[in-house]
Amino acid sequence: MNLSVYCFRYMVAGRDLIAGSIILAELPLVVGPCNGSKVQCLGCYQTLDETYLYSKCNCGWPICSSTCPGIGHAFGHTEEECAILKDSKSSQNFDYKDFDNFKENYNAVAPLRCLLLKEMDSKKYEKILSMENHNEIRRNIPELWNLNQTTVVDKIRKDWGLVEFSEDEIHSVCGILEVNCFEVGHNISIRGLYPSAFLMSHDCVPNTNHSDEENNFKLTVRASMDIHTNQPITLSYAYTLQGTLRRREHLLENKFFECRCKRCSDPAELGTYTSALICPKCNIGLVLSINPLDNDSSWTCNNKCTKPDKKCPGYTVTAKSMQLLISRIQSEIDSIDPNDVETMEKFLDKYRNVLHPTHFLCLGVKLSLSQLYGKITGYLLHELPDDLLYRKMEICREILKIFDTVEPGLTKIRGVTLYELHAPLMILTSRQFETQSISKSILKHRLKEVVKYLEEAGLILSYEPDNSSEGIMGKAAKDALLKIKDWGKIIGRI
Ligand SMILES: [Zn+2]
Ligand SMILES: [Zn+2]
Ligand SMILES: [Zn+2]
Ligand SMILES: [Zn+2]
Repeated sequence: MNLSVYCFRYMVAGRDLIAGSIILAELPLVVGPCNGSKVQCLGCYQTLDETYLYSKCNCGWPICSSTCPGIGHAFGHTEEECAILKDSKSSQNFDYKDFDNFKENYNAVAPLRCLLLKEMDSKKYEKILSMENHNEIRRNIPELWNLNQTTVVDKIRKDWGLVEFSEDEIHSVCGILEVNCFEVGHNISIRGLYPSAFLMSHDCVPNTNHSDEENNFKLTVRASMDIHTNQPITLSYAYTLQGTLRRREHLLENKFFECRCKRCSDPAELGTYTSALICPKCNIGLVLSINPLDNDSSWTCNNKCTKPDKKCPGYTVTAKSMQLLISRIQSEIDSIDPNDVETMEKFLDKYRNVLHPTHFLCLGVKLSLSQLYGKITGYLLHELPDDLLYRKMEICREILKIFDTVEPGLTKIRGVTLYELHAPLMILTSRQFETQSISKSILKHRLKEVVKYLEEAGLILSYEPDNSSEGIMGKAAKDALLKIKDWGKIIGRI
């Protein structure tokens, strides 16, 4: 693979932007199912299966119902698309008893929607064609290129007979979608191309946060921290809670570039140690990659202490062994039921002396625990004993420290975790107040802390759509804030 190609997309702040300010808010050029989607309604993208009481559109494709609001909608199943899919007999081999067989047709829907703009809205089509397609790199990845050839290019040209679109044209559109798409929709997998959001460059510590509206996929990008004039405006195409090796692998495979950002270049990942192991030889040092920008680099203990009792006899592992170890531990995590608090705690205990407490594998488990304590049966907030309330607080604080570095500022993940943190603190405080085991001044101090968490969570989550789980949490944060302020008034000014 040609590794010398990097992203040239670039967006900088034209003026100083304060955290929370809107950088852009725009409707998509195109939306459609993600690659590998299940059979879904072409209007509203609801997943359909053999057991679902679905309807059939004029074109023969399954839809959720004839009254689906997405039928005839610009970002759903348009009349033009319906007519073309009907004329091309695209659904003639659809066996309504075998949805799996029809699944691969959905890979071609978003590319077709781009191609239809050529006739219907040439300005939008030109805009799409101006985006990077990385064809030279993608052509050399047979797995990817061949999948597009069979499930998109041949589908559109051979099966549906739409030969007015050339092979090159279709491959380019596939590339443009892969490189520039945003995943949108809540609990459903939809991708969308936007007229200017694609210009934001990637950084593993992004300075923006974005959300999309459910009904029209309007994307709103906000500054998550203060951004100065001429500073790049960035987002992360990789999951920020992954370690460097994983993030870089994802970016290379899916976005076709090698990230060399500050975080990727630093073995300690900006002091978060999200890829660090505890040295098995000295139990003091941390095992870090010698060169994180080289995936084949060995990992070694960073303990440089020369005192005989603390000195490390030396420990180095190859990249391959490290990857094997990580994927073995990862599969152990994957086998844990997502609501099984006890097994998650056992996992953390088991790897206490192996993984750094903020290693990304631990972080994922801790993020789950931060939300499960207080939420699931047997662990509802008011039933939690004091020690588990303290545990929830401890976990929230620990992960927040990492988020402060890798997703700093007004970001969704911080908003949610601040909300999770306020709850145990509030309950402990009221329990202690009822038993008169805290002084009035400690009480005031605690309430101030709760107010601080809720104010920030309420602000961050107010950016999310009202009906999303985060939006609902934001509303709850604001309600809780009012109650506490009332309570505060009763016990004296806080
Ligand atoms: Zn529908
Ligand atoms: Zn139709
Ligand atoms: Zn990076
Ligand atoms: Zn060591």
